[in-house]
Amino acid sequence: MFSFELHHRDAGTAARLSTFHTPHGPVRLPAFMPVGTQGTVKGLTVDQIAATGAQMVLANTYHLALRPGADVVRDLGGLHVMMGWQGPILTDSGGFQVFSLAERTVVTEEHAVFRSHIDGSTIELSPERAMEIQQQLGSDVAMVLDHVVALPCSAEVLREATERSIRWAARCQAVPQRPDQCRFGIVQGGLDPVLRVQCAERLSAMEFPGYAIGGLSVGETPQQMRDTIAATMPAMPADRPRYLMGVGRPEDLLMAISLGIDLFDCVMPTRNGRNALAFTAAGPVRLRNLKHQRDPQPLEADCPCAACRHSRGYLRHLFMADEMLGPILLTIHNLTYYQRLLAAAREAIAADRFAQFYEQRMEGYGKSGK
Ligand SMILES: [Zn+2]
Repeated sequence: MFSFELHHRDAGTAARLSTFHTPHGPVRLPAFMPVGTQGTVKGLTVDQIAATGAQMVLANTYHLALRPGADVVRDLGGLHVMMGWQGPILTDSGGFQVFSLAERTVVTEEHAVFRSHIDGSTIELSPERAMEIQQQLGSDVAMVLDHVVALPCSAEVLREATERSIRWAARCQAVPQRPDQCRFGIVQGGLDPVLRVQCAERLSAMEFPGYAIGGLSVGETPQQMRDTIAATMPAMPADRPRYLMGVGRPEDLLMAISLGIDLFDCVMPTRNGRNALAFTAAGPVRLRNLKHQRDPQPLEADCPCAACRHSRGYLRHLFMADEMLGPILLTIHNLTYYQRLLAAAREAIAADRFAQFYEQRMEGYGKSGK
């Protein structure tokens, strides 16, 4: 029910054009997944999400397991039925949230124990439980549970967490799985290129249908992120989808695509949209800025989204007046921006001109319309 089809490699970079087939349809790669943390992309109906060009969405295991509970999602028909989303869904394993959001997290070889950030109750998350929860959610792609550490940390702590992530990946794989779900392994190793390659090689031997690079976009510099991805990529199986978790800005996506990454998720377009920051080809636009007060122009003249039927002045007014339509429209625009960027990237790869496309887009971001 899952397969990966490589169509074309760009002549000038490591970018590639491919399709990932899932039980809920194909995903043309490279692709960007909007984040639907609570089983909803905040403020948008599923029809609005689809209209942005999104093919696949991400939902969060940690949040859904706490509320409404994975068994409740299952009893409501699973994530696809509950959300009304017909396309593929990927769920993360909860690893990142357990280490970033939960309180008093203690990790043993057996599991992570933490307190819910909602009601303070004590919860255990083991590799087996992470698989069970995601089976109840019914996503197309489940992520293995990994041990994420905050950077910077000592080499010893990083090595231990990476080794544990590999052992936990094997435990996840040993759990019987539903036929309409597949699992992706997650390469950890912080900013240590040797550890990253070792982790990627050992996970590759486990033959997961897809692989992610995790533990980035946690405060490292863009150069450190680039160096880490570049060092890891040769050890990532070329015949599987390669997913960069939690990244990032449009320029980060283009950089990663040029290195051979196929799949992304990030809260940036949605979270920034709710905060009146719009992405455009000329760089980010801060709509609360007074200079947009009487601006009759749309955010982007060639953007087909609902926000771009309006002036920047009107969009600014919606935010200043605290109207809910402001965050909704800007979420729509930002997601549309990301999807148009990825569609243009796919076209550029097909035409063997991704390097030029990347360069042109980067020049554009320099001419910021703030
Ligand atoms: Zn727009």
